[in-house]
Amino acid sequence: MNIATTSDGDRYAGKHLNQVRHRHRRLRAKLQKKGTKSAKRLLRKLSGREARFAADTNHRIAKQLVTEAQRTCRGIALEDLGGIRDRVRLRKPQRVTLHSWSFAQLGAFVSYKAALAGVAVVFVDPRHTSQECSRCHHISRSNRPDQSTFHCTSCGFAEHADVNAGCNLANAVKRPGQ
Ligand SMILES: [Zn+2]
Repeated sequence: MNIATTSDGDRYAGKHLNQVRHRHRRLRAKLQKKGTKSAKRLLRKLSGREARFAADTNHRIAKQLVTEAQRTCRGIALEDLGGIRDRVRLRKPQRVTLHSWSFAQLGAFVSYKAALAGVAVVFVDPRHTSQECSRCHHISRSNRPDQSTFHCTSCGFAEHADVNAGCNLANAVKRPGQ
């Protein structure tokens, strides 16, 4: 799972994050099955730990994104939140993980830190970033043969789907208001 992708192709989060979250989920399932008083207490503790982990991760990602944008004199484009979920089709266990990730919080942290740093932020329609060709701007669902692939049916441009989406976001920063 990638939480964020830049137009340079840098991806944030991923493997370590998923490992931690899978570990948390397994533990949670075990505790829920147990159902005892002490299990319930542990569950509460665990959800607090998970929330802190998510917040720490989001803070770290937001800081890196804003610092990099500031350093390279660029803006930041964020996808509309529902769109990230619609865009990503995953097997069920992963879908649960992704849905419970607080993209809203990440968006809020990025907006806040960007405002402090004087970095511009624009919000864009997620359907465009996932289905639009970043080279010729042709928008089609068939540009996405699978989850990770972008292949333009009009001009033939091919790239990792996240990288193509990142380029569309970068274009949105260059042409604000679109
Ligand atoms: Zn194209």
